[in-house]
Amino acid sequence: MPTLVAEEQRDFAVETIRKLREAGFEAYWAGGCVRDRLLGNTPKDYDVATNATPPQIRRLFGHRRTLAVGAAFGVINVLGPKGAGQVEVTTFRRDAAYSDGRHPDSVTFGSPKDDASRRDFTINGLFYDPVEDKVIDFVGGQDDLRQGVIRAIGPPRERFAEDKLRMLRAVRFSATFGFEFEAETLRAVREMAREVAVVSPERIAIEMRRMLVEPGRAKAVRLLVHTSLATFILPELIATEQFEPILAVLDRLKEPGFPLALGTLLYKLVDTAGARQVCSRWRLSNDETDRVCRLVGHFAVLGDARVMRWSTLQPILVAEGIDDLLALREAASPGCEEVVYCRALLEQSRDVLDPAPLITGDDLLAHGIPMGPRYRHLLWRARAAQLDEEIQTKDEALALVDQLLQEV
Ligand code: ATP
Ligand code: MG
Repeated sequence: MPTLVAEEQRDFAVETIRKLREAGFEAYWAGGCVRDRLLGNTPKDYDVATNATPPQIRRLFGHRRTLAVGAAFGVINVLGPKGAGQVEVTTFRRDAAYSDGRHPDSVTFGSPKDDASRRDFTINGLFYDPVEDKVIDFVGGQDDLRQGVIRAIGPPRERFAEDKLRMLRAVRFSATFGFEFEAETLRAVREMAREVAVVSPERIAIEMRRMLVEPGRAKAVRLLVHTSLATFILPELIATEQFEPILAVLDRLKEPGFPLALGTLLYKLVDTAGARQVCSRWRLSNDETDRVCRLVGHFAVLGDARVMRWSTLQPILVAEGIDDLLALREAASPGCEEVVYCRALLEQSRDVLDPAPLITGDDLLAHGIPMGPRYRHLLWRARAAQLDEEIQTKDEALALVDQLLQEV
């Protein structure tokens, strides 16, 4: 994907409004992009709401420059020039019943007011007209933005009953913007927290990822526990005395990726197997799972960095994710000497840090040892002896192997 340029993205989003307007339609920026602009943040992307129907949108912008991503929901992506990304253009709609607790059973087109009312929180329910520079607010979103309040649009219990994911979104918005929950909205989340279990693990993971990589991550975790949502998505967090210390460590992370942030959340709570369980519960990729597990597994080991054998420390230092491990160690005990020590070791050239092994499986085979499960152990012993400078040559390595074979 080409990198987006904020200004070109915005210009194209203005252009999209202008074009719809000139064709006689009503059209506004809607939702998150309006909120972000009013907060003085740069929107990640722009959504447009309009009374043009999906076929009308496609005809106006041309089939080659549009993608019908969710035509059934009235969603068309309009593709911009290079650097401008795409604008999601959605027909004003009114949602029908939600029988699965996540998706509306059907959608019908409606008025701008209907469209504002089906959105989740007042701060996300605003429209903006970039041509006239005018905010259109049917839901009191501007006041709540000014006062820093997360308030459901309409009766909170009904809105959370329709879509349980909204409870996690509420926590995320509260944490990332530093906003407080309106009292009824908070009460509803607390009462309905257990229903978050119907949300798919993938969606929970997306929300957790977004909460944990943002600077508000500690507040997000605190809210998850206070609302009881954690009881149902991350019970490992409940009833631990380590809660406050973990939050302090989380707070000290600087722009962590998701594996580092999640590893930090878990390292005092679970062992490697427990970490693997959380990752598999959320269907994380193997790569991210391994990263999280390595953090949890290696954290304690690193505490003895300065006294352990090089053959024990070296594999940890050369493994992928060492930067995350050191960042976690540093956040856990700022100014910690092991981190300084390890960083200094990592300054060495690759040949010194991770020399080629003296022998490989091929050498064992050529040496007349039948291939088998013993190889792993023999190679590992030879590697350790090499790293600890007990042996220097291939012949010495093979002599060690012969000696090991005689021992058994
Ligand atoms: P961000 O992209 O920063 O997470 P956003 O508010 O833009 O925030 P999106 O998921 O991109 O969130 O959704 C765009 C808009 O669609 C929201 O601002 C909101 O108006 C509406 N929306 C999104 N998800 C829901 C939902 N689960 N229930 C109701 N409205 C929603
Ligand atoms: Mg968005």
